[in-house]
Amino acid sequence: MPNSKSKAQASSWTIEDAERTYGVSSWGGGYFTIGDNGNVKVLPDHNKPNVKIDFEAIIAEIRQEKIQFPVVIRFHDVLRSQVITLNETFNEVIAEAKYKGQYNGVYPIKVNQMREVVEEIVDAGAPYDFGLEAGSKPELLAVLAYNTNENSLTILNGYKDEEFIRLALMGRKLGRKVVVVIEKFSELVMLIRVSKELGIEPIVGLRSKMQSKGQGRWQGSSGERAKFGLTIAEVIKAAQLLEAEGLKHTLKLLHFHIGSQLPDIRAIKDAVNESARIYAELHKLGFNMEYVDVGGGLGIDYDGSQSTNDSSRNYSLREYVADVVYGLREMCDLENVPHPNIVTESGRAITAHHSCVVTEVVGEIKPEGADIDTSATENEHILLKNMREIHNHLSDSTNLQEAFNDASQWKEQASQAFKLRVISLVEMGKIETLYWQIMRFVQAAYKDADFIPEDLQGLDYSLSSQYLCNFSIFQSAVDSWAIGQLLPVTPLVGLNKKPVKNCSLVDITCDSDGKIDQFVVDHAVSDIIPLPAFSENEKCYLGMFLTGAYQDVMGDMHNLFGRLNEVHIFSHDDDPEDFYIEEVIKGTTVEQVLSIMQYHPSAMAIDVKRSIDKEVAAGKIPPREGVKWTDFYEDCLAGYTYLRTAD
Ligand SMILES: *Cc1c(COP(=O)(O)O)cnc(C)c1O
Repeated sequence: MPNSKSKAQASSWTIEDAERTYGVSSWGGGYFTIGDNGNVKVLPDHNKPNVKIDFEAIIAEIRQEKIQFPVVIRFHDVLRSQVITLNETFNEVIAEAKYKGQYNGVYPIKVNQMREVVEEIVDAGAPYDFGLEAGSKPELLAVLAYNTNENSLTILNGYKDEEFIRLALMGRKLGRKVVVVIEKFSELVMLIRVSKELGIEPIVGLRSKMQSKGQGRWQGSSGERAKFGLTIAEVIKAAQLLEAEGLKHTLKLLHFHIGSQLPDIRAIKDAVNESARIYAELHKLGFNMEYVDVGGGLGIDYDGSQSTNDSSRNYSLREYVADVVYGLREMCDLENVPHPNIVTESGRAITAHHSCVVTEVVGEIKPEGADIDTSATENEHILLKNMREIHNHLSDSTNLQEAFNDASQWKEQASQAFKLRVISLVEMGKIETLYWQIMRFVQAAYKDADFIPEDLQGLDYSLSSQYLCNFSIFQSAVDSWAIGQLLPVTPLVGLNKKPVKNCSLVDITCDSDGKIDQFVVDHAVSDIIPLPAFSENEKCYLGMFLTGAYQDVMGDMHNLFGRLNEVHIFSHDDDPEDFYIEEVIKGTTVEQVLSIMQYHPSAMAIDVKRSIDKEVAAGKIPPREGVKWTDFYEDCLAGYTYLRTAD
């Protein structure tokens, strides 16, 4: 009774199975979990374990508000919680280590410059005097307006022109602790000149090119070929120049940044050690520096493996903090110099968890497309007969490898024969249908086998469906395309039911790169992910998580798909669903994306109306219908760039 067996299997699927399959707790950082009802839940605040927000309730409210998918959901509490956790961890470790300096962290806004994000971080960080970092003139303009706390640092990295430096000195005039970090020697010459001209003393930082190499994707950020920073010789020259100009006391900070998403803690320890030596030596030369800035690089465990994979990290936040604090303490004590204040520029670690993209599956692309009637007709080609022969004799005793080999070969030959006009279109269609049926049989026969021959191992992938999802990878998950970054994907509701389909995902751009076929499933990287069956009637919402760092702001308008509708969520203990939507930010309209590309949408609407009027005047379109077409064109211009799906 095969039926009762499959029923038993279905009912034996548990939340633990779902957890193992999708790894939600492994990458969720304590913020995401699968609830007993099978829905993904958000635990926005580690200090309030009873506050749990159910994605089903969020989706229901988004639909009720008639906000179109795909949407970005921002959990402001998660952002706040990350800021607090980072600061508290540093403060705890500093106290425990009896470290004499303080922690003065900054948030590098390039990781997510959204005003709401920056404001939330500044607000949550206020009790800790948490500051901001800018790496360009536009970012500096934003930071000058938003980091108004006189006790927090404003750190300026990146290449600078004279305007940049004037703005920095203007910040000094406003009483802010603006540190100009010298990336290139000539910047220091300019800084000294402008500062003397304006009569405003700078706070100077030096970025040192480290010998210690970060690992992972950004290892080019250190070493001799690094794009930024001063060599040891330049550090010495810079210090000497400051001294000669009577500005010795303005050199306050030593900076390094050996790359983002550092997978291996050893690289961090190494770099901290190296920077502590430089700091100590400069101190001994009479430069009383106050800060060592260890840059960014604090990683995120995107794949939940706690490993040195590029998408993971082999350390915890606490371990990272301890290595920085104890590393600096040890070297400074050996060198007999004061413990510096510690600056970090963690961006990814603060922002990654706070946002996710929710998209709907809008279609299924099966490898075989459709089945057609394969019954035999007279005089059909021998290749078709051969294929049917294999198909009709499939049984428990079939030699599966042989069936696979033969069918693959017949199909290849058939495709040649078709091009040579030897077999007809209908014959080719039948051959394809039979071929896929044979492959499905072979796959099913190997389903629970311990050993699968090498040739057949790709069958699960080649027979898997592609789920078409209403989003653009280039807008919403650009690193997944650009650098093969893994981002966790999971269904948001119904995880208490056994997923029945293995699929990869494709987006709605006209670009074959617009796909995701790298997932973490059962703790391993897989090209397919098990998902619920696709049905036209029941919506399947997928969440793409950890998109708050870089992805939110680096996306582009490939195919003119614009920014997403955004829903900002705050937790609220007294609310029956534990949350409320605080703000909705409309995504880009078609008009807006066209305008960016230099079109004039209102003129276009007039042109199209004119064409319609002409057809109406010629009697080819009835006037009422003409008005409808005109309105329709205008509505679409004002509308969302993504697919409109039925409610
Ligand atoms: C990008 C960058 C950061 C942020 O790094 P994360 O790994 O995201 O924390 C910090 N500092 C500098 C100089 C950067 O360029």
